Amino acid sequence: MSDIQLVEAPPGVEGAGFFATSLDKAIGLARSNSLWPLPFATSCCGIEFMATMASHYDLSRFGAERLSFSPRQADLLMVMGTISKKMGPVLRQVYLQMAEPRWVMAVGACASSGGIFDTYSVLQGIDEIIPVDVYVPGCPPRPEAIIDGFIGIQKLVQTESLRRRNTPEYQKLLASYGIQ
Ligand code: SF4
Repeated sequence: MSDIQLVEAPPGVEGAGFFATSLDKAIGLARSNSLWPLPFATSCCGIEFMATMASHYDLSRFGAERLSFSPRQADLLMVMGTISKKMGPVLRQVYLQMAEPRWVMAVGACASSGGIFDTYSVLQGIDEIIPVDVYVPGCPPRPEAIIDGFIGIQKLVQTESLRRRNTPEYQKLLASYGIQ
């Protein structure tokens, strides 16, 4: 069954009919095309993000041209670059300051797994401190890969139920990170 259905106008009613869908789907569609990313860029992957935002790749085609440098006004945290253990608490604080619903992308090998920096001072993936929704591989990932990850986030947003954030499973996920 399609998410959006065309309902014919009943006999005697003027017009071609109307589209019907669920509230979940309608809000998901609106949200997914108006995400406000917060770029948390600490090193080289951030340069690829600049290319992703520039005119050639143009992330604004997906409704995400409005970057937010305030966590209060962002719903997608894009982490790009090496995250040292000293930087970890700052990143976590930024995540905590974002309101629900919020999503997280780990862009590049460093943010996803520590990358080549298998060393005492570097987090071996930001999912050690915050939940991650989409991982983008690469060192660095090309803008096409970042866009692919962004589309992955859009699909998640479109299919997520409005009730997910109140489910015991989601609360359990947050609790596993020590977040109430
Ligand atoms: S993944 Fe590669 S390009 Fe990206 S921050 Fe790490 S070392 Fe730099």
